[in-house]
Amino acid sequence: MQRMVARRAAGAALAARSTGQQAVRSATARSRGVHTTPPTGSSNAQRSAPDADGINMVLNTTSAAPKGAVPDFIINHVAPIHSGSQWLQTKRQSEEERFGEAALEGGYKSFREDIRSVVPDSRVFTDPLRTLAYGTDASFYRLVPKIVVKVHDEAEMIKLVQLAAKNKTPVTFRAGGTSLSGQAITDSILLKLGHTWRYRKIEDDGKLITVEPGWILGQVNRMLAPYGRKLGPDPSSIESCWIGGVVANNSSGMCCGVSQNTYHTIKDLRIVMFDGTVA
Ligand SMILES: Cc1cc2nc3c(=O)[nH]c(=O)nc-3n(C[C@H](O)[C@H](O)[C@H](O)COP(=O)(O)OP(=O)(O)OC[C@H]3O[C@@H](n4cnc5c(N)ncnc54)[C@H](O)[C@@H]3O)c2cc1C
Repeated sequence: MQRMVARRAAGAALAARSTGQQAVRSATARSRGVHTTPPTGSSNAQRSAPDADGINMVLNTTSAAPKGAVPDFIINHVAPIHSGSQWLQTKRQSEEERFGEAALEGGYKSFREDIRSVVPDSRVFTDPLRTLAYGTDASFYRLVPKIVVKVHDEAEMIKLVQLAAKNKTPVTFRAGGTSLSGQAITDSILLKLGHTWRYRKIEDDGKLITVEPGWILGQVNRMLAPYGRKLGPDPSSIESCWIGGVVANNSSGMCCGVSQNTYHTIKDLRIVMFDGTVA
């Protein structure tokens, strides 16, 4: 008998705690102007609730809730999720017209001026929409670049990296943008290679191929198919990723393992160094 009473008391305490939490939740929501309690009558917290055995419980309430009329509708409160459009809205409100080139400062401002003679304005993006669009890759990170430049060839690339070094502005490269860990995003300068990087040369009956970084990996494999050959790395992003990204990421893939990954199948590289020299 004693044990039964003790069990009943413990059950009541449990019920009181959970209903008490509900009361605090309701009061917090109300103080935020959001109402999750039933539309009419006094609050749940002030009511007494029967437990499983029909014993009434008196619950403590919080005084945080403001006095006033109870709303006649309920809003399901969903916490705001950070999104690109929200970021854009905040930026619009806080910075008004200070967008794009007007917002550039220091080295970024002079880099923008310096590259006017290198790349036409149609391939330089500083506007909020396109910089936001280039602020993501296949990862869940977001970094919005200050300037995005579409680079068409090696001569442009040499001048751009030299000017970036001069202005002390970091650069990040982007190919297909399928990186899974944020490698293709930056809050500085993004140099986006175009599909204009299209040189190709097949040698030794397809055993060797020289390509520029603008080719998609699947395209290169189709060039090699008549020779019964293909490239080693086979990421499942094969129809989206580009040679530049494959090489810089040391891509592996679904079947190639380590023995056929990029590093183990590459013979030679032509690299533009940070000071513009080509190695
Ligand atoms: C669905 C899916 C499946 C995937 N499967 C695999 C997989 O099986 N195996 C695997 O290894 N990866 C995989 N990946 C990751 C990614 O697709 C590959 O690593 C791919 O090779 C990246 O190529 P990209 O053209 O998208 O490069 P990006 O993401 O644009 O860039 C990759 C890196 O290379 C740099 N870069 C790009 N171009 C140049 C350049 N010209 N010069 C110097 N640096 C440059 C960038 O700065 C960045 O650091 C997968 C991704 C997705 C979305």
